[in-house]
Amino acid sequence: MARLPLVWRLFPAFLLIACLCLAAGTWYTASSWRNFYLAETADDLANRARLVEAHLQEIRPAPDDRQLHEICRKSGRLISTRLTVILASGQVAGDSQEDPGRMDNHADRPEFREAMEGRVGVSTRFSFTVGHNMMYVAVPWRQSGSLRGVVRAALPMKAIDGAIWSLYQKVALGGLGMALLAALLSFFIARRLSGPLHDLQRGALRFARGDLERKLPVYHTAELAGLAEALNYMADRLQSQIQALSRQGMEQEAILSSMTEGVLALDAAGRVIIINKAGGALLGLDPQAAQNLPVQEVVQEPELKWFINRTLSNPDAVEEEVALASDGRKIVKAHGTSLRDPQGMVLGTLVVLHDVTRLRQLEQTRRDFVANVSHELKTPITSIKGFVETLLAGALKEPDHARNFLSIIAKQTERLQEIIDDLLTLSRLEQDVERRQIFLSGHRVKEIMQSAIQICEAKAAAKEIEIQLTCPDDLRARVNPPLLEQALVNLVDNAVKFSEPGGVVQVEARREGPRVVMRVRDQGPGIPPEHLPRIFERFYRVDAGRSRKVGGSGLGLAIVKHIARAHVGRVTVASTPGKETVFSLEVQVD
Ligand code: ADP
Repeated sequence: MARLPLVWRLFPAFLLIACLCLAAGTWYTASSWRNFYLAETADDLANRARLVEAHLQEIRPAPDDRQLHEICRKSGRLISTRLTVILASGQVAGDSQEDPGRMDNHADRPEFREAMEGRVGVSTRFSFTVGHNMMYVAVPWRQSGSLRGVVRAALPMKAIDGAIWSLYQKVALGGLGMALLAALLSFFIARRLSGPLHDLQRGALRFARGDLERKLPVYHTAELAGLAEALNYMADRLQSQIQALSRQGMEQEAILSSMTEGVLALDAAGRVIIINKAGGALLGLDPQAAQNLPVQEVVQEPELKWFINRTLSNPDAVEEEVALASDGRKIVKAHGTSLRDPQGMVLGTLVVLHDVTRLRQLEQTRRDFVANVSHELKTPITSIKGFVETLLAGALKEPDHARNFLSIIAKQTERLQEIIDDLLTLSRLEQDVERRQIFLSGHRVKEIMQSAIQICEAKAAAKEIEIQLTCPDDLRARVNPPLLEQALVNLVDNAVKFSEPGGVVQVEARREGPRVVMRVRDQGPGIPPEHLPRIFERFYRVDAGRSRKVGGSGLGLAIVKHIARAHVGRVTVASTPGKETVFSLEVQVD
């Protein structure tokens, strides 16, 4: 159906009403005027007839028919009216326009009969005598107290109709002007009514486009004001709801993106609704780009794909450890449940991925550690057990052998003690760091370095190794002196152990920015680059045979690493095999 603007619906209706009112008004006015005019004309004709009747009464003796005819002709000409005198018998005695002898008896004429009863008789009809419509008005003619007949005045209706027609024309012209004015007015009124509706429509469209700030004007018309207020209220409500929704969205986004677990929400068709940042990082994909794509297209990991398939087809929660190959080798604990609305309808699936790689690594490290400790302890214990058994089997009786065996047993016991001491030191250190029980304070570095060197001096002297110290006297650092001394002893001891006899071990310290860096340099065999990343692990040895020969638990550098951490610092190593090895220990300046 064609949609007409309101103005074109209102305007014709207004116009029709205005025209109908005008037509009714015009018709009423015109007919009132016509009746009034006819009544006036009838009055006027009656007065003229009365004048003639008064003139006839004056004449003495009473006029005969010829005189009457003459009076009618003269008077009729004077007052431009047809005058007729009719005797009581109905016979026409005189007429201003016709010969009475040729005229019928007028006894049956309605105006004559009425006048003969003493009233004014009025009649409008076609006159066969003159050949057109006439208005007749008759008055009684009394002569010396007796009724002689009637005097009748008549006018052709043509003259009356002409006057009435010109009146009609004027009224119609006025009506037309009024109709035009009404049309114009009704057009403007319709426009005035539909204008605010257009404003409201534009405003509502603006709201729909999301511009909820600019409110609609409130008009004076009650209905329009009510509509504008309702729309404004709706915009306010919408705005606050949109704000609440976007706040909710932001909160949800913030929660999801700050979660360390990867979250993957899928709809019932298996399309991605949301992947959070952690999920994107775990699966190596862009969360934005993955939205609305089928999950099987997005996820490339075969194990995870299989898990998601199982979750999608399973109404119960599913949990499993899944290996991811994309970013190194990661192990995630995947938990899949169906997403349901408050009514319990299934909307899709939620998969939560918890990266347990580090946990598994730690478990592995602990297992390795236990295996390593057992292995480290087993070697000296096996050796001790073997020699004790040999002694018991009779070697005791051979003093030379017995002494030799006992000294080996003593050495292995010492080694056991050394390993156990180092293990205890490590675990104590770990505990202290955890409980924040390691206190740091400002100390002169040189003094600590000197005392560490002193401890290693005997071993160095035995191999004729010179230990050179370079350190500014006033260099101070925030340290725990016994711990720092132990770390330095471990480093210097290693340098001495791995240096060739007669070599030089350089120990130096200097300030570098906000840090104090202590370096222990030796010209020993060095460490091949492939071992460098693992050198600080517990029990890690470059060459197990050689290390054991030179002594050592394999825990020395692990202790150094922990001490560095306790000092909010770090330890690094640089080595050129066959040339030199430099261990650097960094702590905070005081
Ligand atoms: P250990 O007590 O057995 O020396 P560490 O933890 O101190 O144990 O050292 C671990 C390993 O690092 C050693 O077994 C050795 O292979 C290597 N290493 C340490 N310091 C040096 C060095 N200065 N020169 C060459 N190799 C070294």
